[in-house]
Amino acid sequence: MPMSQSYKDRLFPILPQLAVHYGTPFHIYDEAGIRATGTALNQAFAGIPGFREYYAVKALPNRHILEVLSDLGFGFDCSSIAELILSRQVGARGEDIMFTSNNTSTEEYAFAEADGGCILNLDDISLIAKVPNFPELICFRYNPGPRRTGNIIIGNPVEAKYGVAHDQLVDAYRIAGERGAKRFGLHTMVASNERDYTYIVETARVLLELTLELKKALGIELEFVNIGGGLGIPYHPEHSPLDLAAMAKEITALFDAFRSAHGFAPKMLMESGRYITGPHGCLVTTAINAKQTYRNYVGVDACMSALMRPALYDAYHHIDVLGKEHLPKSETYDVVGSLCENNDKFAVQRELPTIDDGDILVIHDTGAHGHAMGFQYNGRLRPKELLLRTDGTVELIRRAETVEDYFITCNFEPDEFKPGQ
Ligand SMILES: *Cc1c(COP(=O)(O)O)cnc(C)c1O
Repeated sequence: MPMSQSYKDRLFPILPQLAVHYGTPFHIYDEAGIRATGTALNQAFAGIPGFREYYAVKALPNRHILEVLSDLGFGFDCSSIAELILSRQVGARGEDIMFTSNNTSTEEYAFAEADGGCILNLDDISLIAKVPNFPELICFRYNPGPRRTGNIIIGNPVEAKYGVAHDQLVDAYRIAGERGAKRFGLHTMVASNERDYTYIVETARVLLELTLELKKALGIELEFVNIGGGLGIPYHPEHSPLDLAAMAKEITALFDAFRSAHGFAPKMLMESGRYITGPHGCLVTTAINAKQTYRNYVGVDACMSALMRPALYDAYHHIDVLGKEHLPKSETYDVVGSLCENNDKFAVQRELPTIDDGDILVIHDTGAHGHAMGFQYNGRLRPKELLLRTDGTVELIRRAETVEDYFITCNFEPDEFKPGQ
């Protein structure tokens, strides 16, 4: 079920007050829910020594959220300079940060290595020569290519731009060793929003198999394998959740068996984003217009600048109409924003109770890849973010964008240049 009953029970009664105090639209996140999921993940994998989750910062890049995640013992997975800065703002340093970038510039590597550094996860063999100060600890991202079929969002690995090909892997570690690396990790990410846990178990199995191949070829014992993110959540009420307990049990058994057979085992790292925060956020928006033409439309005061997933992926996000949760779903609506793009729709042909102007709509599961993906196209600016604290206090954790923000990149020193003939 999308969005937990516990979160609904704590949030829905206070939403009318929040709508008055803060104004809609806003995303609001649930600290208690994030902590519960994070703790459950840590406990599920407690049987693998050294297990650590590196939260994928791109999913919800807000300092106040990262502070909560840091408190759970998580590290951070970054792929840009801005994400590195954000992670360091909450105190992450060195091996607390994994830099899983791709098509990386030398400038980015220099930045990643400064200020306490991080774990570099290289996306290609050609990048080994481009890292300015080659570190002692290095990781490579693996792309299984035709050996593995990806899931729907991530696509076919052969067509994926990420990672080192299977045939290049041994060379990558050998050359990294020649540049001075002494400690090694291996990473892959072949699924996205996958609720079939056997997919993730298979990923762990493949990484352990490669651990053995590298040991045989080069004599190196990998310090860690990183199984990536991509753990799915049920956006649709009829979807079943990922079976975390079964997944952890099977993966732990793989690591135990590996250790018994080979006398060592790498640590296991993970870099989930969606699974940790996705269900613990929602977008709260007010119905402002109703329109009946060839279809019935409800216009709300948020638009795709606050949540791109429906437009980008045709993704389903469940919607509750506040105070009407138990009324019959007697109408069929397209719920739309005001962008001049016809895919600016939070829901298409959705059965909902009758909606009146002024009704508050709660769009579920916006705690990951929600606000973060927004843009300013059409001058439609991104909304504010709130956090429901465990003690019931609500805190503004990002203000809404203003037109001043929109115009700020137009303030600059004049710079005219006349190219010579
Ligand atoms: C986006 C991303 C993640 C997080 O994906 P989720 O679906 O949020 O778990 C993890 N690792 C990498 C390299 C990513 O690009």
